[in-house]
Amino acid sequence: MKIFRVLIAILFIWSLNACERPAEQILRPEYAMAIHGGAGVIKAELMSPEQDSLYRASLLEALKAGEKILITGGSSLDAVTAAITILEDNPLFNAGRGAVFNANGFIEHDASIMEGSDKNAGAVGAVRNIKNPILAARKVMETSPHVFLVREGAEQFAALQGLQIVDPSWFMVSRQREKYENTKSSQLEKEFPLGEKHGTVGAVALDKAGNLAAGTSTGGMHFKHQGRLGDSPVIGAGTWADNACCAVSATGHGEYFIRYGVAQDIASRMIYGGQSLKEAADEVVLQELVKLDAGGGIIAVDKDGNICMPFNTAGMFRASVRAREEPFVGLFASDSLQLE
Ligand code: ASP
Repeated sequence: MKIFRVLIAILFIWSLNACERPAEQILRPEYAMAIHGGAGVIKAELMSPEQDSLYRASLLEALKAGEKILITGGSSLDAVTAAITILEDNPLFNAGRGAVFNANGFIEHDASIMEGSDKNAGAVGAVRNIKNPILAARKVMETSPHVFLVREGAEQFAALQGLQIVDPSWFMVSRQREKYENTKSSQLEKEFPLGEKHGTVGAVALDKAGNLAAGTSTGGMHFKHQGRLGDSPVIGAGTWADNACCAVSATGHGEYFIRYGVAQDIASRMIYGGQSLKEAADEVVLQELVKLDAGGGIIAVDKDGNICMPFNTAGMFRASVRAREEPFVGLFASDSLQLE
């Protein structure tokens, strides 16, 4: 009888504890993060084993830099900034050093960042000499009354904020210069759809405090018109974060992503339509964008730590990690993550 009473008491105390923790917190990983390095014609047969390992190692390096911040209780904003800065400095990706040339033979960078707690956001467009455009986007968000600065105005602002300014030649790598020269001389641009040539970097994260953040940075589309802005710096198109729902960073044919407000559309489907992250992201990327022949993909994490990384191209450079789980790195469709 006494044992029975003790058992009842234990059950009662346990039920009180369980009620104090909402279901999502019991299931939610302490943190979650995903990054991308662009989507497009990324196929195993087009890549040497050395290139394959280089891409995987580079993605893992950026992911780990972000994860290190999240593990120690740092913010999702810092994790996203750290991962993107590393990818911008890596000449393998079309952002910062290694970005694509425009039709006039120079490089213009776009970047944006957003935090989910108050939907604060910052962006820079068509900047030519800021070493890390994502840092400039963050400065716009944190130290200016504005959301979006472009060209000289953004460059002057970044310099005044003490960000590193470099000679534009610093961004130029021979691989991209050759691509530019080939396109220029052979008029390839007329033969291939613009959508076949993209690449961008981005990151999304959920931190221990439950705050979401997203960021995206790019050199845009190869051989783009001077002054062209893509979706990457456009809040709601290439980047979105809202603590009530999810954080999204996109990559792909920017004109479509702007016209269809891709990142915000995914969030709206969840908030107003009651869809899960996977339902919303898959529908937008694998159905809506496919109907438009708009190549690309997105990475997203929701407030419960679910990660989704759909793409409708041959491949997408991507990586993700959640607390107490092994990191995932993928390049091709055949690299599959259980969560995808
Ligand atoms: N979305 C970028 C743009 O249109 C390019 C890309 O992601 O590949 O500028």
